[in-house]
Amino acid sequence: MTLRVWEEPRDNCIADMVCVSLCGDVFEMSDVDGKANIIAKWRKDPDKINEGFVPDDMKDCVEAAVQSCPTQIIHMEPA
Ligand code: SF4
Repeated sequence: MTLRVWEEPRDNCIADMVCVSLCGDVFEMSDVDGKANIIAKWRKDPDKINEGFVPDDMKDCVEAAVQSCPTQIIHMEPA
């Protein structure tokens, strides 16, 4: 099973790194604009930095990020 994880609208990221501290295997901070994005290895489209597909066993840490993101831009659904 796979989970789709995405950030929308990514522009609203305030770069506080909460998602990275809770789930650093999925999220990272961009060197380009300083906002969070999905780590490249999880993306289907390398250029779509705000969407990834991760294994089910990462659900707990992604869920923590979904619930803790202060701007509520992280989303998750079964893929
Ligand atoms: S927790 Fe939300 S606001 Fe904070 S860095 Fe991650 S995506 Fe951005």
